[in-house]
Amino acid sequence: MMPIDTRCFFSLDRQSEFLSKYAEPDRYSFLEKFPKTGRFIPRGSGLSYVAASFGKDSVSVGFGKFSRILEFNADAKAPMITVEAGITLHALHIFLCPRGLRVPVEPGHPQISIGGCIAFNVFGKNQFKEGLFESCVEELEVFHPQKGVLKCSRAENKELFDLTIGGMGLTGVILKAKLRLARIPSPWLRVRNISFRNLQHMVEVLQQVNDSADALNTFNDFSVFGKNMGQGFVTVSNFSDEHTPAKLLESFHSLDRRPTQRFSYFNALSIPVFGFAYRTWHTKFKSEEKMPFYQFNYPVAGISFYFDWYGKKGFIERQILVPEASVEKYIEKFERLLRSYRPQVVLGSCKFFSGKQRLLHFAGRGLVISIDVVPHTGKAGFHEALDALNVDMGAIDNIAKDSRISRELIRREYPDYEKVRERMAAYDPNRQFASALSQKLSV
Ligand SMILES: Cc1cc2nc3c(=O)[nH]c(=O)nc-3n(C[C@H](O)[C@H](O)[C@H](O)COP(=O)(O)OP(=O)(O)OC[C@H]3O[C@@H](n4cnc5c(N)ncnc54)[C@H](O)[C@@H]3O)c2cc1C
Repeated sequence: MMPIDTRCFFSLDRQSEFLSKYAEPDRYSFLEKFPKTGRFIPRGSGLSYVAASFGKDSVSVGFGKFSRILEFNADAKAPMITVEAGITLHALHIFLCPRGLRVPVEPGHPQISIGGCIAFNVFGKNQFKEGLFESCVEELEVFHPQKGVLKCSRAENKELFDLTIGGMGLTGVILKAKLRLARIPSPWLRVRNISFRNLQHMVEVLQQVNDSADALNTFNDFSVFGKNMGQGFVTVSNFSDEHTPAKLLESFHSLDRRPTQRFSYFNALSIPVFGFAYRTWHTKFKSEEKMPFYQFNYPVAGISFYFDWYGKKGFIERQILVPEASVEKYIEKFERLLRSYRPQVVLGSCKFFSGKQRLLHFAGRGLVISIDVVPHTGKAGFHEALDALNVDMGAIDNIAKDSRISRELIRREYPDYEKVRERMAAYDPNRQFASALSQKLSV
């Protein structure tokens, strides 16, 4: 049996927090001792916004000690790397960047593990062009106590491969992953910020620059409720032609800690000031800049304090993918909701997505709108009204970002919901892997 402790777990948004069991093996012999019964859930770096790597009745199995690079092939045409799934994006950054390589799809913080990227099939800086994390996964090794260690890929054990990517850790512990790598065209980027007046104008600007940009995202200020609601700027990033080496990201503040701040700095007075200052700084004083690759790749690494600033009550992130055909109509209704309920939105941001939605993956062609909201602000009922709007307009909420999401909402938003449940039950009738999230969603 593995040594098991009790530990306090919390989701990054602080909407879930409780004591639960934790094991942190450090050698592969744990596989032989792994109990054949009982509930477990793998844990990578534990940074998820939601309670995905712990659960009241499950032992969370921390896989952080398994973080080695096992194989590396710098082949000019098809560079590949095989790693233990506990390795972080940061460790890969330090190894790959000096060799002019990168993991093609990376979420915004260097502490995130490869296991976490696979289990939530995450997106990176340019989902529109690069797709989801699955696009770079070639092969996996997965451990399940009833089945042992299984290799899977698009050619072998396809069902396991398909269920594991975006499978929220529910098929077992991903031990190893073979990943396709991409070349970094330059260690530097040219970044331009282009202002827009409101959401309609933002969509026009995004459409104008989408084809030529290596990455696009926006900052939106939702603290103004007049005709300039959602005003902000589009950040257009392109790899530069410069080849002088850029500094690597040597260190960063860990997010795996209890937020220290008791009260929120964000309120009805501070949010508009923050929005105005942020917009002005980026459009008037920093409208063009040269940026090292790491800063572009891990935008949140230098501002970890942002999450602390919400205090003990945390925040609610809504990340919504609106189908392309409904964007104009959706924006109109979304603005009407904000005007009517007046929630305190600290940060808004948008980007284009492409691809086909399937299983419980956050994917599809359209516009992604993300907002970080201070809980219990504005008129009660905002989130429920937004849920109803999403269902009505065929939009989907990102399961990985919003702790509030219910089983009923996911069932109505994701057409494959029942199919995923059936396939999971067929793969593992005993459901030995479960988290607070999966139990709430009944997947
Ligand atoms: C600052 C910040 C920025 C982010 N930016 C983005 C972004 O740009 N795009 C995006 O899509 N997401 C983003 N995210 C979300 C993040 O990518 C996911 O929540 C990711 O899963 C976190 O990885 P983790 O290693 O912390 O995993 P954990 O939180 O530990 O676990 C997440 C899930 O992965 C499973 N898991 C972890 N390791 C394994 C394993 N070895 N085997 C099987 N299952 C495993 C867990 O069971 C759980 O279901 C961001 C998160 C933060 C904190």
